[in-house]
Amino acid sequence: MTQSYVILGDGISGSSAAETLREEDPEADVTVITDEGEPLYNRILIKEFAKGKLPEAPISIHSEDWYDERGVNLELNTHVTDVDTDAHEVHAYDGSTYEYDKLLVATGGTPTSLSSFGVENADADGVHHFWTFQDARRIREHAEDAEQGVIVGAGLLGIDFAAVCGAQGIDAKYLMRGNRWWRYALSLEGAEIIHDGLRSKGVEPVFDSGVDRFEVDDDGRVEAAIDPNGERFECDWAGVAIGLDFNVEFLEDTPVEADHSGIVVDEFMQTGVEDVYAAGDITRFHDTILGEQAQNGSWGSAKEQGQVAAKNMASDDEVEEFRWVSSYSITHFGFPFLSFGHPTEGDDYVERKYDEGTYRRVALKDGKVIGGVLIGDLAPQQKLKQLIREERDVGDQTDVLLAEQIDLDELAPAQQ
Ligand SMILES: Cc1cc2nc3c(=O)[nH]c(=O)nc-3n(C[C@H](O)[C@H](O)[C@H](O)COP(=O)(O)OP(=O)(O)OC[C@H]3O[C@@H](n4cnc5c(N)ncnc54)[C@H](O)[C@@H]3O)c2cc1C
Repeated sequence: MTQSYVILGDGISGSSAAETLREEDPEADVTVITDEGEPLYNRILIKEFAKGKLPEAPISIHSEDWYDERGVNLELNTHVTDVDTDAHEVHAYDGSTYEYDKLLVATGGTPTSLSSFGVENADADGVHHFWTFQDARRIREHAEDAEQGVIVGAGLLGIDFAAVCGAQGIDAKYLMRGNRWWRYALSLEGAEIIHDGLRSKGVEPVFDSGVDRFEVDDDGRVEAAIDPNGERFECDWAGVAIGLDFNVEFLEDTPVEADHSGIVVDEFMQTGVEDVYAAGDITRFHDTILGEQAQNGSWGSAKEQGQVAAKNMASDDEVEEFRWVSSYSITHFGFPFLSFGHPTEGDDYVERKYDEGTYRRVALKDGKVIGGVLIGDLAPQQKLKQLIREERDVGDQTDVLLAEQIDLDELAPAQQ
C-alpha cells in the first residue's frame, strides 16, 4: 500500500526528512507544508546577508524544481492550524486538509518577544527579531540607514545582531544582564575575549543592564531603550534575541506531549502518539549520551534528526537512533569560536585561558565530558567530542582536558 507522509516545516530538519523518505520509500506520497513563502534556504547564512556580505542567491538551498524532480509535494505559504491524530489529518489556515499515514512535526521555533515580559513597545517599528530570510531582508534594509543600535539577548543569536551592527556601521550598545556575554556557558575570563571582539566591531557591551521599555516617536518608531537602572540608550534600530517559543499551537488538542519549550520524543524521534514523529530544534529528545532529555539548537543536529526520523518512519520500526554531539561556531571576529555538546548543562566545569585570545572551557557531568566552549584554538574539538561519545569517566583527570595538546592515551580507557 502506498504510504502517505506529511512533514510540517521546510527547514533543514523537514527538508532532509523529505529527501530521506523519498530515498527510503520511492513510491510514497510525500508532502512538505511550510508557512514561509520560499523553499529551504540556509538559515545559518542569513546573518551574512543581513551584514551585507552576501547576495540572496547563495543562501537558497532548494528551488521549487528540486521538490518537483523528486515527486515531493511542496505547499508554500500554508500555515498549519491543527492536527487530528485520531483521524490522521492536518488542517491549514486556508481550509485545506492533508491526510497522513505518518506525520513529522519539524516546525522549529519563533523568536520570543520582550512583550511576553511586559516590555512596553517591544514590537515597535525598528525592533527586530531574527529567524527567517524575510527577517534578514528587513534587518538589512533598515540597518543600511540606521545610526544607533541597541541589542538585547547575550547569547549565540544576539551576537549575530552585534555583527550586523558592526558590518553596517551602526554605533551600538549591547545591553546584557549580569557581567558578561553568555554567562551560562562562559566565565568572565572567557567572555572578555568576546567583549573585546565586540568592541573591535564598534559594539559596546553594557553590563547589569537589559530593557525595561522602549520609547517610540509619534510614528511609532523606536527611538530609545530604557534599561532597568533608568539609563536611556538612544536607538533607531534594535535587535532582540532572548530565545525561542516553539511552534506547537496546532497540537493543543492532541495527546502529543508538547508545549512552548518543545515536543517530547524518544531517541527514534517518536512522540508518545502513534504515527507522529518530531525532528529539529523543536524536540526535547532522549539523549542516549546524557541518559536524559535534552534539546539542541543547531543546523547539523536538526539535519540529522530529520534523517533519523525519516528512516524510522519509512521502516515503521526503530531502525536508527539519534546519537549526536552538536556544534555551533561563530565566525564574526578575527578569531574562531565553537560551542559543542551541552556547554551549559554541567555539574562541574574546568577552564583555562592560554593567552589573550585562546580559551577552553569543558563542562562535565558525573565525571564525563558533556560539552564546552573553545575560543581561538579549535583543534581540541575532535578529541573532546570523542570523549563525549565514548562517555569516558575523566572526573579525576581533568588536567589532561586542559593540556595544550590533549593526549587521550593519558586518560583511563572507555568502558566497553
Ligand atoms: C540568524 C541565525 C543564525 C544561526 N546560526 C547558526 C550557526 O551558525 N550554526 C548552527 O548550527 N545553527 C545556527 N542557527 C540555528 C539553526 O539555523 C537552526 O538550529 C536550524 O535551522 C533549525 O532547523 P529546524 O528545521 O529544526 O527548524 P526551522 O529552521 O526553524 O524550520 C521550521 C519551519 O517550520 C515553519 N513553521 C512553523 N510553524 C508552522 C506552521 N504552523 N505551519 C507551517 N509551517 C510552520 C517555519 O516557518 C520554518 O520554516 C542559526 C539560526 C539563525 C536564525
